[in-house]
Amino acid sequence: MKHAITLLPGDGIGPEVVEATVRVLEATGIGFEWDTFAKTGSDALDEFGTPLPEQILESIRRNRVALKGPISTPVGDGFRSVNVTLRQRLDLYANVRPCRSLPGVKTPFENVDLIIFRENTEGLYSGIENYDERLEIADTIARITRAGSKRIIEFAFEYAWRENRRLVTLVHKANILKKAGAMFLEIGREVATRYPGLEVNDRIIDNMSMQLVMYPERYDCVVTTNLFGDILSDLCAGLVGGLGVVAGANIGDGIAVFEAVHGSAPDIAGQNRANPTAVLRSAIMMLQYLGESQAASLVEAELQAAYAEGACLTADVGGSASTTEFSEYLTDRVRSGVRSL
Ligand code: NAD
Repeated sequence: MKHAITLLPGDGIGPEVVEATVRVLEATGIGFEWDTFAKTGSDALDEFGTPLPEQILESIRRNRVALKGPISTPVGDGFRSVNVTLRQRLDLYANVRPCRSLPGVKTPFENVDLIIFRENTEGLYSGIENYDERLEIADTIARITRAGSKRIIEFAFEYAWRENRRLVTLVHKANILKKAGAMFLEIGREVATRYPGLEVNDRIIDNMSMQLVMYPERYDCVVTTNLFGDILSDLCAGLVGGLGVVAGANIGDGIAVFEAVHGSAPDIAGQNRANPTAVLRSAIMMLQYLGESQAASLVEAELQAAYAEGACLTADVGGSASTTEFSEYLTDRVRSGVRSL
């Protein structure tokens, strides 16, 4: 049986790292039917008059699974983020971002193993904004709902329980955000009572940022609102070697879009220098979601071995290989791994 997957290469480094990832995935021998949409964001706007054509949403709704590269968003003005719109339109409420150390990648900490659960559809990303030109007042409303908070917190606890994790930390700013922050925290404490086997604590976002860069080993699973989760996941990426290595999944009820934490990296786009590991690790999460656990374990094991060996890594993690050299090297490893199964 072939898996029908919507493929969005995105822009910037997106097409390079997505192509590199697809090559490795194909080496597993699993059948994929890629429903590819090369144009998104500004490229789609030029051709279709919208940065997110309806056919893309229809394809993801039909296939239920997508693999996505980063899509650039203009800063300040221009169209709304395609990434945020996609998550909201498909109700992909849970953004799961595991940040794990890789062997051979030198960072101030070893054995970091954190998972950020970021609420993905509301908060400061709700899109409720207003600018009063006369008074020169700008409003951006951080709307959170009881239902929205409850489902991401329940998702995080359920995941932590299923995966035998030890601790869930609720991250908030309830000292200042007495409505939105307090509601999030209250729901978190209520949900926690249903998981007596899990340790639970809470931290204010500013303190949490310091805690994570000083004592990452004290934390495990972190669940938080949209903006805080976005910022903390880049922070945690910094703990394990940078944005080139951190994966992500946007998950809704029976539908999922897998994408790395990183953006389109215009500073290195088109140079064959980007690290495809982050998208590949997102694809490993996709394989697990598809029930292809043997292939997921094989690719993960070969990736870990490639990093431990260190012979063919990209520049961001201390090597000198290009995107294509790294992906060819890994593809060969996966192919031999499949042969010896
Ligand atoms: P970025 O994540 O694109 O890049 C930040 C830094 O990390 C850059 O120095 C970049 O070179 C490096 N980096 C990122 N990915 C890398 C990789 N795979 N290998 C090696 N180095 C890598 O963040 P930014 O520069 O703030 O954003 C650029 C664009 O991406 C913006 O338009 C932004 O809106 C968009 N963006 C999209 C997504 C998404 O599609 N989900 C996420 C974040 C940012």
